[in-house]
Amino acid sequence: MSEKRTEIKAFGEFRLIEHLTSSFKPGNPGTRLGIGDDAAVIEAGDKYFLSSSDFLIENIHFDLTYFPLQHLGYKAVAVNVSDIAAMNGIPRQILVNLAISNRFSVESLEVLYQGIKAACDNYKVDLAGGDTTASPTGLSLCITAIGEADKKDITTRANAREHEIVCATGDLGGAYLGLQVLEREKEVFLSNQQMQPKLEGYDYLVKRQLKPEARMDIIYELQEMKVIPTSMIDISDGLASDILQLSKASKKGFRIFEEQLPIDKKTYETAVEFKLDPTTCVLNGGEDYELLFTIRQDDYEKLKGHPDIHFIGHVQKLEEGNQLITKSGNPVTLKAQGWQNFQ
Ligand code: ADP
Ligand code: MG
Repeated sequence: MSEKRTEIKAFGEFRLIEHLTSSFKPGNPGTRLGIGDDAAVIEAGDKYFLSSSDFLIENIHFDLTYFPLQHLGYKAVAVNVSDIAAMNGIPRQILVNLAISNRFSVESLEVLYQGIKAACDNYKVDLAGGDTTASPTGLSLCITAIGEADKKDITTRANAREHEIVCATGDLGGAYLGLQVLEREKEVFLSNQQMQPKLEGYDYLVKRQLKPEARMDIIYELQEMKVIPTSMIDISDGLASDILQLSKASKKGFRIFEEQLPIDKKTYETAVEFKLDPTTCVLNGGEDYELLFTIRQDDYEKLKGHPDIHFIGHVQKLEEGNQLITKSGNPVTLKAQGWQNFQ
């Protein structure tokens, strides 16, 4: 080791991963796709295996003062299933890796596992193993999801082509505003423990934060309609950041339209209440776990009446860049301001 010391925050999450892994090149013939997509793709006979991991760390990703352990268990599975969905795959197994301090009782871990069980039942995945170890403080939970896809179905971030249509599912920005509401009520509670949190009316947003769903329903519907997206990612870091990931992998530009962005009424109103720009919440909120994908123009007819798929823009040449066209018609360059660790 040299004397030189570089702070992690000088890199940021994505550049750090690139920096640390750039000298690793896949050598086994079965490694179809390694680092850089939502899941690794591994040759398995006439199919592909998919595998993806996500860590959730206490006081980085969740705060147990308002995050029920049952929801945490559910969310930890859902966010991993979401990465398998983003490859147009079907999840099959999970491995659960736990680090726990003695602050937690057996009963509290049973509650965590009730949430894991509910998610396993809902997404039809089997708990197939994991690891359990002590931690000096707090709770860390790392889940690996394993899935599969037919070779013809696999969808990476890389194959968007010019003139294709950009689609986003559900609505965006809700999970971020749910977090703002929970943080506000926590502050109120800490300053006066007699005060009860006021969450009425914010149920939808709080649920978006505490109990997100992976959009496997959309994956099954796309299969029924025989639509294979040309590129796909799940919206975990924020729409803007995730568009830039598709752009980088596909070597194309993206043009999206503010008036087409899906936002729930309550999300809009709560953004205004918090003096936040609703569009900024949609672009940069993160943790919505919706799907962002591109389709061929020919497939538009099949999807156009779908209540939960929104057509937000189109793919253009890389040199044309990535823009949001505002409601007043002005182009704004998209920047990644989503969730960044190490800040
Ligand atoms: P996602 O947001 O879809 O979960 P990430 O942004 O976490 O994806 O990761 C991007 C890519 O980098 C993935 O292919 C992931 O497997 C890989 N990756 C993340 N952390 C590491 C690491 N420490 N070592 C090697 N690869 C990593
Ligand atoms: Mg992802």
